[in-house]
Amino acid sequence: MQQKIRREDALEYHAKGRPGKLEVIPSKEYSTQRDLTLAYSPGVAEPCLAIAANPEDVYKYTTKGNLVAVISNGTAVLGLGDIGPEAGKPVMEGKGLLFKIYADIDVFDIELNTKNVDEFVRTVKILEPTFGGVNLEDIKAPECFEIEERLKKELNIPVMHDDQHGTAIISGAALLNALEIVGKKIDEVKIVVNGAGASAISCTKLYVALGANVKNIVMCDSKGPIRADRTDLDERKALFATSRDLHSLEEAFVGADVFIGLSKGNVVSQAMVQSMAENPIVFAMANPTPEISYEEALAARPDIIMATGRSDYPNQVNNVLGFPYIFRGALDVRATEINEAMKLAATLALADLAKKPVPDLVNMAYSTDNLMFGRTYIIPKPVDPRLLSTVAPAVARAAMESGVAKEPITDWEAYESQLAR
Ligand code: NAP
Ligand code: MG
Repeated sequence: MQQKIRREDALEYHAKGRPGKLEVIPSKEYSTQRDLTLAYSPGVAEPCLAIAANPEDVYKYTTKGNLVAVISNGTAVLGLGDIGPEAGKPVMEGKGLLFKIYADIDVFDIELNTKNVDEFVRTVKILEPTFGGVNLEDIKAPECFEIEERLKKELNIPVMHDDQHGTAIISGAALLNALEIVGKKIDEVKIVVNGAGASAISCTKLYVALGANVKNIVMCDSKGPIRADRTDLDERKALFATSRDLHSLEEAFVGADVFIGLSKGNVVSQAMVQSMAENPIVFAMANPTPEISYEEALAARPDIIMATGRSDYPNQVNNVLGFPYIFRGALDVRATEINEAMKLAATLALADLAKKPVPDLVNMAYSTDNLMFGRTYIIPKPVDPRLLSTVAPAVARAAMESGVAKEPITDWEAYESQLAR
């Protein structure tokens, strides 16, 4: 359960001791003169020469293969908006902390002082030699789309904008499981998506890849339903334009099976939820305030399956269920990208894990003994240690099968047990 956090406590946590949340720790011996001679001049020249002769050896002799750049320009930080690169740094350091504790991946957080797409892309491109992967973070739409698309093309290491794809993967897994519980088919359900920004577009694309029918989807932005006759649509919104004559979110809700909220707090009423089909699925994911509160939604519809982005209610859609393990799997087979097959594999692995019996350790963390696949447990909990040993291998396998793994895994048993340690 989430505790109420006081401002002074959060500031004190970040300021105490050495300010910030990360430090660099040597990973080799350094206590003797000999150690230092090996670590630096002249010993260090040997790996330099080896890498010069065979550039792939950079993975053998340096941190590259386990080092991810978390890169932001601070233009869309959490739900706080464009607060700038310095103000975004605590979030990027926090992401580094999560990568480390959940998947033992090291992170350099990088905050760029630019809003210019060309400058951003160029900067990340010339940083490529340092890193094994790039996690783009908290960059506002529409720039985030072009930045990610271009970097994916131009870089030979995996790149993922987590605000887009992380959310899609976790909510996609939750959606598959919620549909299974209510016995509805993804290709038949009517879906309303509120929001047409970075996360909403990516989520909707993934749901379509999972089988949802574009004809059954109505997407709304701040101006209401995205209709084919609107003249203000960019190409991403136009992909999801409906031919139905809908003029408000309220109208879109009538008879819908699924509501996906990636917009703003408190924009959905109980009456809207009451107008949905039976066993409605409502993912109100605006942070920190959902489109409709958990209490209100349940009071409106006892037959609902409800998820939010919050940790103080059941079914938290939280990206931490994805990014550490997606990058772990990608790095471990030296994938050249994070492709659709790998994202689908992560989605299915997460959905599947939620259906397995929950370990005591996870129950204990939530002070319960009965977490079980069902309406209030449709996705795994972030503390579940099985996430690493199930999601990472699924991603690694998909990378291999889709032909983007430069260093395929041969002994899966050894790999999985090494992750489970
Ligand atoms: P974004 O790129 O800024 O997009 C926001 C979208 O919401 C825009 O399309 C905007 O419409 C639309 N919008 C704003 N007010 C609206 C309203 N009253 N009705 C309908 N649509 C409205 O932001 P984002 O990164 O996608 O994030 C959106 C929300 O989802 C945020 O609250 C964020 O915290 C949350 N989120 C949650 C998770 C999670 O895991 N729980 C993950 C990602 C994002 P226009 O296009 O017309 O401006
Ligand atoms: Mg983010």
